[in-house]
Amino acid sequence: MRMFHVKQFDVVVIGGGHAGAEAAAAAARMGARTALVSMTRAGIGTMSCNPAIGGLGKGHLVREIDALDGLMGRAADMAGIQFRLLNRSKGPAVQGPRTQADRKLYRQAILDLLVAQPGLDIVEGEVTDIIERGGRVAGVTLADGTELATGSVVLTAGTFLNGVIHVGDQRHSGGRVGDQASQRLAARLAAMELPRGRLKTGTPPRLDGRTIEWSGLDLQAGDDEPVMLSFLNMGPIARQVSCGVTHTNERTHDIVRANLARSAMYGGHIEGVGPRYCPSIEDKVMRFSEKTSHQIFLEPEGLDDHTIYPNGISTSLPAEVQVDYVRSIHGLQNVTVLQPGYAIEYDYFDPCELTATLETKLPGLYFAGQINGTTGYEEAAAQGLFSGTNAAAAALGKPGMRLSRSDSYIGVMIDDLTQRGVTEPYRMFTSRAEYRLALRADNADQRLTPAGIAIGLVGREREAIFARKRAALAEARAVLDGKTVSAGDLSDLGIAVSMDGQRRTALTAMALNGMDEAKTIQLAPEFASFAADIRRQTAVDALYVPYLDRQTAEVAALRRDEAVKIPAELNYAAMSGLSSELRTKLQRRMPSTLAEAGAIEGITPAALTLILAHCRKIGGKRAAFR
Ligand code: FAD
Repeated sequence: MRMFHVKQFDVVVIGGGHAGAEAAAAAARMGARTALVSMTRAGIGTMSCNPAIGGLGKGHLVREIDALDGLMGRAADMAGIQFRLLNRSKGPAVQGPRTQADRKLYRQAILDLLVAQPGLDIVEGEVTDIIERGGRVAGVTLADGTELATGSVVLTAGTFLNGVIHVGDQRHSGGRVGDQASQRLAARLAAMELPRGRLKTGTPPRLDGRTIEWSGLDLQAGDDEPVMLSFLNMGPIARQVSCGVTHTNERTHDIVRANLARSAMYGGHIEGVGPRYCPSIEDKVMRFSEKTSHQIFLEPEGLDDHTIYPNGISTSLPAEVQVDYVRSIHGLQNVTVLQPGYAIEYDYFDPCELTATLETKLPGLYFAGQINGTTGYEEAAAQGLFSGTNAAAAALGKPGMRLSRSDSYIGVMIDDLTQRGVTEPYRMFTSRAEYRLALRADNADQRLTPAGIAIGLVGREREAIFARKRAALAEARAVLDGKTVSAGDLSDLGIAVSMDGQRRTALTAMALNGMDEAKTIQLAPEFASFAADIRRQTAVDALYVPYLDRQTAEVAALRRDEAVKIPAELNYAAMSGLSSELRTKLQRRMPSTLAEAGAIEGITPAALTLILAHCRKIGGKRAAFR
């Protein structure tokens, strides 16, 4: 009989993708003895699809992860080969930092950060079983029979659960190209009878850059003043490169149309629902049939790699058709396809069944990432950080992390997932946040780092850097606040203000149309002594103050409501005035706060008022018996 040594951990994280890496690092930062189990060590931090981190909405998530001392922003800065601030011409609230990342450098950066994290063991292996004892998680079993004992497991298996890869009418089992699917764990989870469904996503063919005719193509360089993903970094580390720009044409679309029946997506081979916001070339040709051309970015996958990722033409057409349509595109006439594009279908679990900490109905088992119905590295990483933190907090008996819609995009996402669920792969957009003027990428550290410090999630180095920044910002604000200026002073600077004799502080004047840093320095010369990033942040913060006032009042009202706890004994069945539909939903979800109740799809203000009245009645009775 073989004997296996059982190792004990506070938290075991399954999967070394974007969710898993953040979950494991966060749990270890919280002080939990943590194991990260992933199929292959070399695959940790792999970007399964596009070689880029950040973007609109997603860049906000990366900054929030970074504010909580997560890995993604730092790794993206290490690996970034082209930085662009998207929506630069719009207001800072909707600007999204993004970088194209060298795949190898990114993987290496994530692995280096994990290896350097005290309290974290990396275990190479496949988890095949989740051990239950006494109605809660007790550990995991690996394919080689090894057992890891733990009371908290964070599952982040991505697209690997019952993953099926499709290229035209060819299909085979796989977690992503080159990786085996996770079948045994999928079967084990199926036995738990958690509500689940199938989703799908796709990726484009990869091209050999040496066979592209670059000379006839437009090139797009990064920004002249690159904006980093991490608050800790000031400038790019790797060599910066441009990407090429080309377009599909009518011939490309004809080839796609002529072969639609052979596409896995359109040929009826896939049952899962795909990401509406990341359409395949088949989707684009059919859904936007009036368009004769679509833009394609030819993105280098790395500095010492000839592979090019053609962003915008993901597909599940047969491999030979892919070669045909790709070669119909300007600049790609003689291109060599290194790897065909493919679609993948996989299991996901209904996130409405999760608690607000992403824990399943099996105590101690947490889910994060793509398996919760999201798509994208950033969405996965943010969930990983959140669930890893809470799993560690529960294991150690410490306070965990709660985020709300009014303080972070992570809070918006967790709320959307657990309260509203998903019908298609969920990705982040700034439009999902009601409080987006306050939830900017530039102020993520001011919003979240203090809370991260308070629960022990943020390391010493960041804590010290943040403390210095916070002090400098306060000092800069005080300097401007202490300086009053007249309408005449402003008019002399060319700022149109009514000559009403009203005096303003230089800080409030910063929000006026036409004001900039140089003019502010003319009003308050001491402002020049602050570092450029402090001056810039002070200006952005000041710009939003007038708009935030109203929003702050709304947030305060929401906070008051959010704070109201719904007693477990509240009996929705006996509550007259609730529709049967809402009663069923409330009974199923059992929201723990009024905010959670308010987020349930279809809930009305009248129903919330009713619930609030019942909460107060129960609270009053309790007080009377004390
Ligand atoms: P993953 O990054 O998939 O990581 C899962 C990890 O779990 C892997 O390390 C794996 O080895 C490990 N694992 C799985 N099972 C086990 C087990 N039993 N034991 C141990 N380890 C295990 N996102 C977009 O935003 N846009 C796109 O266009 C897009 N296209 C995609 C196309 C394809 C083909 C694929 C595969 C993904 C695509 N994605 C896209 C999704 C993106 O890759 C994911 O959103 C992201 O990687 C999810 O991160 P994750 O950590 O949840 O899972």
